[in-house]
Amino acid sequence: MNQTRHDRCAVALEPALLHAELETAISGLVSRAERRLADGTYGRCTTCAGSIEPSRLRALPWAELCMRCQDDADERQRSHHEDERQRSQSER
Ligand SMILES: [Zn+2]
Repeated sequence: MNQTRHDRCAVALEPALLHAELETAISGLVSRAERRLADGTYGRCTTCAGSIEPSRLRALPWAELCMRCQDDADERQRSHHEDERQRSQSER
């Protein structure tokens, strides 16, 4: 089997399909990052306009959100999903 670190999220996806999806997603992010580079807004959070942490940009050169806004976005997405899954339980 060819499941290394993706087996957590590759539930329904073939590895090749997952790879193609990742490539599409990343190439969109990269071209947006290139546009921001040309704009001079690269490294700026698109939500709060604060600067994105350099360590974050090193790990994720196409990051569009600073750590805080990314956390917020993740949290919102997660709570949205959890809301639908377990509406009666709160795990805070
Ligand atoms: Zn931000």
